Amino acid sequence: MAAPLPPQKKQQSKGGAGTPAPKGPSLWAQMAAALAIFLMLSFGYSLVRQYITDEIEEVPISQIASDIDAGKISSISVAGNKITATYTDESEKTSRKETESSLTQTLSDYGLAPERLAGVNITIQDEGGLRFWALTLLPIIVPILFLFGIIWYLSRQMRGAGMQAFTFGRSMARLTSPEDQGQKVTFKDVAGAKEAKDELTEIVDFLKNPKKFIQIGARIPKGVLLMGAPGTGKTLLARAVAGEAGVPFFSISGSEFVEMFVGVGASRVRDLFATAKKAAPAIIFLDEIDAVGRVRGTGVGGGNDEREQTLNQILVEMDGFEPNEKVIVMAATNRPDVLDPALVRPGRFDRRVVIDLPDRKDREEILAIHARQKPLGADVKLSVIAERTPGFSGADLANLMNEGAILAARENRKELAQFDLIRSIEKVMLGPERRSHILNRKEKEITAYHEGGHALVASILPYADPVHKISIISRGRAAGYTLKLPFEDKKMQSRKEFLDDIAVSLGGYAAEKMVFGDITTGASNDLQVLTALARNMVTRYGMSDKMGPLAFDSAQGKALFGQGVEGGEQSQEVAAQIDAEVKKIVEGARKKAESILNKNRKALDAIAAKLMEVETLERDDFEKLLIAHGITPKKKQDIEHQPIA
Ligand code: ADP
Ligand code: ZN
Ligand code: MG
Repeated sequence: MAAPLPPQKKQQSKGGAGTPAPKGPSLWAQMAAALAIFLMLSFGYSLVRQYITDEIEEVPISQIASDIDAGKISSISVAGNKITATYTDESEKTSRKETESSLTQTLSDYGLAPERLAGVNITIQDEGGLRFWALTLLPIIVPILFLFGIIWYLSRQMRGAGMQAFTFGRSMARLTSPEDQGQKVTFKDVAGAKEAKDELTEIVDFLKNPKKFIQIGARIPKGVLLMGAPGTGKTLLARAVAGEAGVPFFSISGSEFVEMFVGVGASRVRDLFATAKKAAPAIIFLDEIDAVGRVRGTGVGGGNDEREQTLNQILVEMDGFEPNEKVIVMAATNRPDVLDPALVRPGRFDRRVVIDLPDRKDREEILAIHARQKPLGADVKLSVIAERTPGFSGADLANLMNEGAILAARENRKELAQFDLIRSIEKVMLGPERRSHILNRKEKEITAYHEGGHALVASILPYADPVHKISIISRGRAAGYTLKLPFEDKKMQSRKEFLDDIAVSLGGYAAEKMVFGDITTGASNDLQVLTALARNMVTRYGMSDKMGPLAFDSAQGKALFGQGVEGGEQSQEVAAQIDAEVKKIVEGARKKAESILNKNRKALDAIAAKLMEVETLERDDFEKLLIAHGITPKKKQDIEHQPIA
């Protein structure tokens, strides 16, 4: 039962840079291949074996004796105990005798008169003939060879793995070469972010034409740090710089430095820089640099030596650049506040480019970029979608377009309709609907009052955002939700807005308590959000009269670049004062919410009843209900905007 204040978004999907090298076939596939080879070999051998031995009919020696007697046999050859008789009609038969006794002896034992043998040509062969060896040795040799084959094959695999282990110092960076048209990204693929692009155009210029800068003695920027919320297109922008300049792009993510073995981070850095220098002009991109670039020596995160060594090596490499080295190091982070000050001092990442969440116009452009390969229906108005998605990042918008296409495809339509995109907004914001998650009647009633409480308080308080939609269909982890959207994008929020937001968050809790005299767990998320908000008001934004304009930031770590608040540890007394102030804010908001609900109990009952009936209320229907109960819905000009600067 969440009334998401700022839209709570799903985890953004990460746009990977480049593709990792394809992995070899799995061990199982290799085993299967080996087995197949083995089967083929043994099949072939059995064929040959059959040819060698079984083609000739074997008969008892008594038969041979009687056939000689009958004059049917022209010649006989003897090899060891084996007899091959050639008949007058050219056919052959084999037989065996006892090894010790001679052929003549054996035949006479079978009652053949010695003179009958005169007409038969008898040859005695050496027992060590080829066939003998083949027949006796092949069954032994083949499996042995096969075993050796397997051992050799496996050992080669092992060596392969071993080699990897030995070369782990190699940087593991992914290279996107300028010739690779398939992966090429240019500024055209990045919508909005105008200031960032302007800043980066200079870098592109330098990479394209370094001489111009070097001749005039300009100091070339070494490091550019891209800062911005997740999904705002930092990685995309870095790749676009490489694409624009047409230079190789070596990218590696901070976490990859420290991934496999201890002690490799630093050598990977060394390797990466060496490779990039060879390929200059080039760009090195260290994505998510906060994974290695945190403030050193704080012991935060286990005081990871490995991480510090990696960071040190980055610093060393950046200092080691010759003045005219044509390699530019770009880095991206969404936590600039935790970076080590040494990283951002002049001569290292001294250029900082901030990428903001896109505003309405930018959002429309981003949507247009991601609509390029999708057939849009005639009714699609991206501007409307852009209007309804404040707070969405570029990645969210890309995700939204994709969800829309999936919805259309699922319903076997060839084009995306506006309806698909509208539905996708909520899906991206709150997770998929869970219609199967059926509430029983009582739960449904509680949820209806809870969401109705949020919506009613939001409609009456002057600084709260207007309600767009109320629903008691489960979505993600929420049993129901109230969707509020500001009329326009806001970069800042005022104290009055925060206070009203907190009251709106309490609307659900207050309604449950008033109507049912009891409270459910459904309000827990609301409480978390509003408590955090109230605490931030006191400790970070200086919005409590009692505490004054001070930032008590110790829990959040040090302020920007570790240079802000020093010794942020607060005394217990101060901590208690903060708690008291937070409590005061929340209590005030609770009173506000309760009095609104008390005064408008009839309207609340009507909203809840309607929700029980239809489950989802769109803005127009909701406002009709309000008007019927004498409440004027907010219009754009009613929202008072604080002059904030
Ligand atoms: P970040 O690195 O800032 O977390 P990414 O660069 O990985 O974000 O962005 C993720 C995806 O979001 C991109 O691959 C792209 O599809 C989309 N995106 C983000 N910002 C933009 C933008 N300004 N224009 C177009 N697409 C964008
Ligand atoms: Zn709620
Ligand atoms: Mg990224």
